[in-house]
Amino acid sequence: MRGTLIAVVEDETSIAEVISLYLRRAGYQVQVYHDGQAALNGMERQMPALVVLDIMLPSLDGFALTRWLRDRSDTPIIMLTARREESDRIAGLEMGADDYVVKPFSPQELVSRVRAVLRRANKSAQDSAETPLVFTDLHIDPLSRTVIVAEQEQFLTAKEFDMLWWMARHPRQVFTRDQLLESIWGLSDYIDPSTVTVHIRRLREKIEANPSEPRHLLTVWGVGYKFEP
Ligand code: CA
Repeated sequence: MRGTLIAVVEDETSIAEVISLYLRRAGYQVQVYHDGQAALNGMERQMPALVVLDIMLPSLDGFALTRWLRDRSDTPIIMLTARREESDRIAGLEMGADDYVVKPFSPQELVSRVRAVLRRANKSAQDSAETPLVFTDLHIDPLSRTVIVAEQEQFLTAKEFDMLWWMARHPRQVFTRDQLLESIWGLSDYIDPSTVTVHIRRLREKIEANPSEPRHLLTVWGVGYKFEP
């Protein structure tokens, strides 16, 4: 299995380097951003599994990025706080950060926090895995594996259902074809990525009022696909 992607948003290059070194050694993929706006642009294209976020950053600070992230995803956030001031930590947690580490910190401790936060996030994702998702014109029930579109049941193949369920559970997150292959088929090396394209097309025919102008299953040009709630 490929490494889980962690974004490290930290303007101090020496700290960013040490963090990414330790995370890579622990088996994670790491994307480093040195300022807030670059991080926002990058995460809009590809949402990481977790964000290590410094508070004091050029262009957009860690608080602004936390608000932006919480508007669109449950991606866990671990804040790096430069000051020992409690107020920063409380503000971060209240905005939705999952944990924080006070500088100076041991990189090994940060890696342990990353592991723990990801474990918690996966557990709560499992707990919500059996709850139906209801959108205005679309109802997806994971237990009976039924999909209802505008009050009509649609019959999906097993993989079509798996793909719709996966994408709908990660709204607005952009997936490449390889990521979808890995998440839904689990064997990205042995299946043609065009399989994903075919499944997206069939799903659009089943769940979109107008498949040529989809409202839920959107193409993100040059990257992949996303589900818009
Ligand atoms: Ca900083």
